[in-house]
Amino acid sequence: MAAYEYETHDYDVVVVGAGGAGLRATLGMAEQGLRTACVTKVFPTRSHTVAAQGGIAASLSNMGPDNWQWHMYDTVKGSDWLGDTDAMEYLAREAPKAVYELEHYGVPFSRTEEGKIYQRPFGGHTTEFGEGPPVQRTCAAADRTGHAILHTLYGQSLKNNAEFYIEYFAIDLLMEDGVCKGVLCWKLDDGTMHVFNAKTVVLATGGYGRAYFSATSAHTCTGDGGGMVARAGLPLQDMEFVQFHPTGIYGSGCLITEGARGEGGYLTNSEGERFMERYAPTYKDLAPRDYVSRSMTMEIREGRGVGKEGDHIHLNLSHLPAEALAERLPGISESAKIFAGVDVTKEPIPVLPTVHYNMGGIPTNYWGEVLNPTADDPNAVVPGLMAVGEAGCASVHGANRLGSNSLIDLVVFGRAAAIRAGKVVDRDGAVPTAPKAEIDKAFDRFDGLRHAKGNIATAELRLEMQKTMQRDAAVFRTAKTMAEGVEAMTAIAGKMDDLKVTDRSLVWNSDLMETLELTNLMPNALATIVGAEARKESRGAHAHEDYTDRDDENWRVHTISRVEGNSVDLTYRPVVVDPLSTEAEGGISLAKIAPKARTF
Ligand SMILES: Cc1cc2nc3c(=O)[nH]c(=O)nc-3n(C[C@H](O)[C@H](O)[C@H](O)COP(=O)(O)OP(=O)(O)OC[C@H]3O[C@@H](n4cnc5c(N)ncnc54)[C@H](O)[C@@H]3O)c2cc1C
Repeated sequence: MAAYEYETHDYDVVVVGAGGAGLRATLGMAEQGLRTACVTKVFPTRSHTVAAQGGIAASLSNMGPDNWQWHMYDTVKGSDWLGDTDAMEYLAREAPKAVYELEHYGVPFSRTEEGKIYQRPFGGHTTEFGEGPPVQRTCAAADRTGHAILHTLYGQSLKNNAEFYIEYFAIDLLMEDGVCKGVLCWKLDDGTMHVFNAKTVVLATGGYGRAYFSATSAHTCTGDGGGMVARAGLPLQDMEFVQFHPTGIYGSGCLITEGARGEGGYLTNSEGERFMERYAPTYKDLAPRDYVSRSMTMEIREGRGVGKEGDHIHLNLSHLPAEALAERLPGISESAKIFAGVDVTKEPIPVLPTVHYNMGGIPTNYWGEVLNPTADDPNAVVPGLMAVGEAGCASVHGANRLGSNSLIDLVVFGRAAAIRAGKVVDRDGAVPTAPKAEIDKAFDRFDGLRHAKGNIATAELRLEMQKTMQRDAAVFRTAKTMAEGVEAMTAIAGKMDDLKVTDRSLVWNSDLMETLELTNLMPNALATIVGAEARKESRGAHAHEDYTDRDDENWRVHTISRVEGNSVDLTYRPVVVDPLSTEAEGGISLAKIAPKARTF
């Protein structure tokens, strides 16, 4: 058995992750006087949320009529009827409150002439239950909204005495009899080990975009929460739904926000045609992301791509006034210059659909409590464990997330988790002690990786995984490519035992850290391809060429995947179809949100 010394810390709540979700949860917990620690592998304001450009959705009606029922309808339809109705209602109803709170905390939103929060149009956000024109619902701080939110929440968390453990890497959850009692962490800059005992652990570790070769997400987005959950014998949900953003810069994958199309930008093919008018006559370039990404892919496949190899598409902004570009889209103007050498006031930006967001994740209810569904109880809660943000799956995005609905998900559910913890955490009770056997088990795994003497370097195996996922779990999928993908990924995951780590030190050992991250990426990737291969329909981001229709009778269910080593066990959990309030109570009528064909 590996012998490591460790320091012990006791808290009411330990939040793992300091992105928008982790910080909003941390702030909410600390505000209520819960003793709260926030553990993060990167400095809080370097979390991927800092890169969010376009904005945060809430029906404030600052730029025209809007209401939460319309926002909820758009989210239901955007999810292609796979989201949980109670969670989607909670999101849309609480969104305005959560945004005004951000404003009062100090987020420097862009303003209208009258001084209200500025809102821009975003794909899939409409009026009149999808019957009316697009709505301006996305609240923005220029094209640096995530940056503004993250800095504000960090400052507020410090003000409320939350304690930060920065550059601490969470290795594994410490569970006992199905209850989470803490988390084991490694301090990256001095190599010390830390056991955090807690009444509640909140996973806010973000997405796993880096399971793919080309992604808009940061290199730190390695699905660590999902990996920890899988190792604890808990499931993941709906992992086959991976969002491709239509406008990653060709070559680098760097994001150009959908706000660019919200401000009037449009896509063209090699014939200079605004082809989205053919695919989505009503909403054109502002149709939802899965739809636009598929349309672009179809144009390229049919020989109308741009560039020497005809393998990408143009995004045009040069018709917009230079002052508007400078004021509303300064960040992306700079990105286009740096990553594509393009002056947006004069030339189009070369773009390509790029992996952007994980709709799936750790299953939770709308309070952020982690679920471990059983045949008897599909909504069984894991005591002491919560998950929020992109790591979680509440599920509000179902099979496809609408743009600007993630930032609002972070703050609404970060806040909800804090409200819930304020009610269920026993402030006067003793902090549990994580069991010694679990700590030893986690150290054994860590030590095994630290001294791994196999034949394959971590970077090599990671690349093999990323290329396989990019090829076989793509925008369009066929039974053949997915079956090949399952076979390839099973073999790749099987090679984890043959990894080679060359640096054995404990201080700033990036080789070992990336290896730990690969042990997290792998179960996420495996669950994605296996879940995709099994789902014999097309829904949202899952476009199956052999089963092109949505099949509500058989497949309006959440995929529940349990990963062990290189095998994945799949079961299914019913979608929550009941909203929180009835029409008589001011809620949305069930008839309005009944499944129907998704057209734009
Ligand atoms: C380029 C880009 C632009 C986007 N723009 C928008 C937008 O305009 N609007 C919108 O709604 N959505 C947008 N999104 C999506 C949205 O930004 C993300 O889904 C969201 O920011 C994720 O936030 P999070 O808090 O869940 O995780 P993150 O912000 O990714 O933070 C994860 C945190 O977990 C910590 N962590 C992870 N693993 C460990 C570990 N093992 N130990 C310790 N700490 C750990 C990290 O240090 C980090 O603090 C965008 C995404 C990208 C990539």
